[in-house]
Amino acid sequence: MAYDQNNIFAKIIRGEIPCDKVAESDHSLAFRDINPQTPTHVLVIPKGAYVSSDDFADQASDAEIADFFRLLGSVGRTLGAVEPGYRLISNHGADAHQEVPHFHMHLLAGTDLGRMIK
Ligand code: 5GP
Repeated sequence: MAYDQNNIFAKIIRGEIPCDKVAESDHSLAFRDINPQTPTHVLVIPKGAYVSSDDFADQASDAEIADFFRLLGSVGRTLGAVEPGYRLISNHGADAHQEVPHFHMHLLAGTDLGRMIK
């Protein structure tokens, strides 16, 4: 799928619409989900134009990939969620109900998340 430069996260990266920023690095951004599913619900995204995780893995530089996972790890620590724990989810495509076509990881925390399909 071609990247849509007008998707909502592209607009957030460009500063065209606001977000509740949690953290930022050279190549990545973390902000709170507008419709949180748990007490802590943060989205971590690369600033580059990638639709999904496979695009990110195939096309991003090693520096972008390292930067993304370092920010993801630091957000978990910053929010105090390493203990008692958090869940990372990335939805890809129609069956997963990916709503925003810009690769993102959900970080969910702040409650007992129960069990899920894995
Ligand atoms: P997906 O289903 O694509 O994995 O999840 C997209 C997420 O983006 C949803 O949880 C949704 O609430 C969130 N979202 C959609 N529009 C906005 C927005 O304008 N700002 C923020 N902060 N989150 C958004």
